[in-house]
Amino acid sequence: APILGIESSCDETAAAILAPDGQILAELVLSQIADHAAFGGVVPEIAARAHLTALDAMVKDALRQAGVGFADLAAIAATAGPGLIGGLLVGTGYAKGAALAAGVPYLAINHLEAHALTARLPSLAAGPVEFPYLLLLLSGGHSQCLAVEGVGKYRLLGATLDDAVGEAFDKTAKLLGLPYPGGPALEALAREGNAKALPLPRPLLHREGCDFSFSGLKTAIAQLLAAEPSGALPRARAADIAASFQASVTDILGDRLNHALAMLPAANAVIVAGGVAANQAIRARLSEVAGEAGKLLIAPPLRLCTDNAVMVAWAAIEHLRQGDLSAFNAPCKPRWPLDSL
Ligand code: ATP
Ligand code: MG
Ligand code: FE
Repeated sequence: APILGIESSCDETAAAILAPDGQILAELVLSQIADHAAFGGVVPEIAARAHLTALDAMVKDALRQAGVGFADLAAIAATAGPGLIGGLLVGTGYAKGAALAAGVPYLAINHLEAHALTARLPSLAAGPVEFPYLLLLLSGGHSQCLAVEGVGKYRLLGATLDDAVGEAFDKTAKLLGLPYPGGPALEALAREGNAKALPLPRPLLHREGCDFSFSGLKTAIAQLLAAEPSGALPRARAADIAASFQASVTDILGDRLNHALAMLPAANAVIVAGGVAANQAIRARLSEVAGEAGKLLIAPPLRLCTDNAVMVAWAAIEHLRQGDLSAFNAPCKPRWPLDSL
């Protein structure tokens, strides 16, 4: 029987229904970007209310598309953390209520685990990846490097010490006067600029392990902009700053991946996930570094790299295959590190 997945941990409301073999029967995502744009970032209270407004109709649409009812499901799964507590309560509360009413099991899914297992979806073009593999999770909320050794077996190899990489893109873009979310806008502007124009720092480069740090980079750009002549920043200058910033991030990520590869020589592949995986310069560099180590870099299609519910339903399937279920009083966990599973 099919599995329903629900995602509501940040600023995407999503519902998906998968067949037990992982085939996608329905897949819906509603981004809240427009609701938060005026504030330049995600406002938790607005996010929670938007999830509440959208979720019920979205789940019913997904059921209609898949041609099933609640009682036909094998399980209902929802992201229970990490994330914003209001959104988590909306998604898990809905999932528990529907599961109880329909008499089907409930699964509380870790959002990071869902990102980590996406690469094993049988329908992906590259074919399912076998354990162990390396996962670089590069999003607005997370920058982590994980050894994925089995379902429920994750070893954190490194994480950001300060900002997440997407956050660094968004903050730098804001300093440059670009619209929210800044990542895509900054990448577009960087194409017009010279990546060697400015000598920016590369925090932690060549340092042991694979921790990340980006806040020094953002500070360097803030200082650089403060020293600019007053008046509007010329577009060519902004483009040079954007290109130099992106080059620094690319160098950092390439170096960190290099270290991570040495920490997991048995890796069958390198998977990159999170919104920053959309960045072509970063993708190209990671692919190059993985290639030098004889590994393939696999990036799931972008819609499965960013927040979605297919990954939640798929993680539930992997757990169901192990016989795992959650209790109906399983809590939401705003903080829920993967290596605590
Ligand atoms: P979470 O960590 O909970 O998944 P999130 O919703 O912020 O948080 P995503 O939706 O995966 O994460 O990704 C959004 C982030 O990706 C934003 O910070 C955005 O700026 C960044 N991003 C998107 N496209 C690009 C790009 N082309 N280049 C760089 N960064 C990008
Ligand atoms: Mg998002
Ligand atoms: Fe995410």
